[in-house]
Amino acid sequence: MTEKSSAEIFDENYKEILKKIEESAAASGRKKEDITLLAATKTVDVDTINHAIESGIEYIGENRVQEFLSKKDGLSNCHRHFIGHLQTNKVKDIVPFVELIHSVDSFRLANEISKVSLKLRKTTDILLEVNIGNEDSKSGFKEWELCENFQKISKLEGIRIRGLMAIPPICSKNEKNTEYFRKMKKLFIDICTENIDNNNINILSMGMSDDYDEAIKCGANLVRIGTALFGKREYNNK
Ligand SMILES: *Cc1c(COP(=O)(O)O)cnc(C)c1O
Repeated sequence: MTEKSSAEIFDENYKEILKKIEESAAASGRKKEDITLLAATKTVDVDTINHAIESGIEYIGENRVQEFLSKKDGLSNCHRHFIGHLQTNKVKDIVPFVELIHSVDSFRLANEISKVSLKLRKTTDILLEVNIGNEDSKSGFKEWELCENFQKISKLEGIRIRGLMAIPPICSKNEKNTEYFRKMKKLFIDICTENIDNNNINILSMGMSDDYDEAIKCGANLVRIGTALFGKREYNNK
């Protein structure tokens, strides 16, 4: 038996995922168009990503600066997001090329993005990452730090907060993640109502290969999917 090509693996998975997203969206009273599917493309080669883009993927996310930069020139037209932990000294490398940074986890980082963006005369869209499981191993604002930082970061120029992002703890049962996703939805609503006249805040980024169904049902409108689209990664890019 010949092995399937990465493009074939993608084609099968993509159809399936679109169907599931539509079902999950319907279960929460929404349409498939209300959910943005972002392909998490770490370790995926440029040809396969371009195949995905030709097939309909509009949003891609990389989580490492080096990888983001090494792929960027070869990619077809798409929305490029950065989804991984970002060090302050790498901000200047990323900001010129990125549309949305999902993973802003400190005031210091936001401040640097603001400074670099102002220099480039651009506005960079960001999400605030929430450490919703309160885990030592993860970055992100703790729930109780969010409001104060949100206020401070909102005042920075050259930067625009578009919403929240989270990676909940790895759970064996999806019921547990539902609890974290619900908490995120609540934080999202709180922040929206606090900023009643800022209607730029409309992105809730949560849900990955194993839990996007639960995430969407809890209100996510952007899911970041890697493995379920491209197959298991050959090496673990941690
Ligand atoms: C890799 C990655 C994903 C996708 O994870 P899968 O389990 O492969 O779907 C989503 N978000 C972030 C931040 C990632 O690094």
